[in-house]
Amino acid sequence: MSNEDWTRRSLNAVWHPCTQMRHHAGGGALPLLPILRGEGAWLYDFEGRRYLDGISSWWTNLFGHANPRINAALREQLERLEHVMLAGFTHQGAIELAERLSALTDGALGHAFYASDGASAVEIALKMSFHYWLNRGEHKKNRFLCLEGSYHGETVGALAVTDVALFRDAYAPLVRQAEIVPTPDARRAVSGESAVDVARRAAFGLEAKLRAEEGRVAALIVEPLVQGASGMAMHDPEYLRLARALCDRYGAHLICDEIAVGFGRAGTFFAHEEAGIRPDLLCLSKGISGGYLPLSVVLCRDGIYQAFYDEDIRRGFLHSHSYTGNALACSAALATLDIFAEDDVLNANRVRAEKLYASLASLAEHPAVSHLRARGMICAFDVKSEDPDFSRRFYRAALAREVLLRPIGNTVYLMPPYIVSDEEIGQLGRATKEALAEALAAV
Ligand SMILES: *Cc1c(COP(=O)(O)O)cnc(C)c1O
Repeated sequence: MSNEDWTRRSLNAVWHPCTQMRHHAGGGALPLLPILRGEGAWLYDFEGRRYLDGISSWWTNLFGHANPRINAALREQLERLEHVMLAGFTHQGAIELAERLSALTDGALGHAFYASDGASAVEIALKMSFHYWLNRGEHKKNRFLCLEGSYHGETVGALAVTDVALFRDAYAPLVRQAEIVPTPDARRAVSGESAVDVARRAAFGLEAKLRAEEGRVAALIVEPLVQGASGMAMHDPEYLRLARALCDRYGAHLICDEIAVGFGRAGTFFAHEEAGIRPDLLCLSKGISGGYLPLSVVLCRDGIYQAFYDEDIRRGFLHSHSYTGNALACSAALATLDIFAEDDVLNANRVRAEKLYASLASLAEHPAVSHLRARGMICAFDVKSEDPDFSRRFYRAALAREVLLRPIGNTVYLMPPYIVSDEEIGQLGRATKEALAEALAAV
């Protein structure tokens, strides 16, 4: 069957995520691409055309599609155990993964609670924080703080700490909105301010809120270093140090949502390491399974775990998802950690990240480009354009050059898998510049 057949059947039967389905219809429409197979950084359609996955399939893929080592681990696991419920049962993969993730925090976060998606990890962290304070007799601590422009997922609980109008506003009546505190986004710098100055200014705002709400805040939730979904807003690690100190002073948890920035994406293995701090609760997903299977985890300090440890069942954390700690997903995650260890990935990425930035560096001079920025394996810039269709035009222009890039509004970003070659980085850079020229010329 041709691409067109699959596309038609998909549009008849599948409701696609994050999409106004009408945009797939008619002339000049957003294409819907049926993918037959993947290999390395490339996705192949049914007619042999290929696309360089410049955004790691929504930031999940780390070591390429159909990675031989992850495939081998999954095949082996498949012959032994595909899944077993994690209440009353346990298995080797869930145990080893929890131990290894904890070791990667130097033991600071000693317990792992599994779930299946990022948003469910966020829900778990929020419930755990609230319930911890309840178990400690602090029942007034039921408010959460989140940053301006924060994104923590799209279930009703996660939307409460998400500040992206497009995703949240329609559901506002369903949501118990968290308090929003200023973002440390370095682009907010005014007249000679440095990124550190912006971070300090944002921390002032955080302290004012913590003081005003003293005794009522359970936790602050942040995306460390890069606020992804609202447009790759980057901040100085100083903000995380100040936020850590303020949460300690006012008796609130610090939740780090590293669903997008963990697993080396922002340079260090966990993004919060860059600030020399540890959160109380850490949410991980996306890259955790190398981009293979839905898996998420919340790591917590032992002190939080201990507050639930009791004869009384109501003081326990009774949350669950059917596929919690799925054995296949855990084996993909363990294979992913093996690759990090065996290939010295973080060091190799330092060089790769420089090349990625270099591939876009000339755009710093482009009259329509501002705030060219990078953090680890993420490069982004903002485009001055009044065209409401800029992002879709750019997307189509990049696809025509065999490259998958999906701007967020007027922010274009590169976030490729960690196995991209120099040649592929070159192609990403060239396609970005050409797609930009084409999208800007269209109006
Ligand atoms: C993607 C993302 C989520 C939500 O994860 P899902 O698996 O899509 O539910 C939450 N937080 C951040 C920072 C993310 O980037």
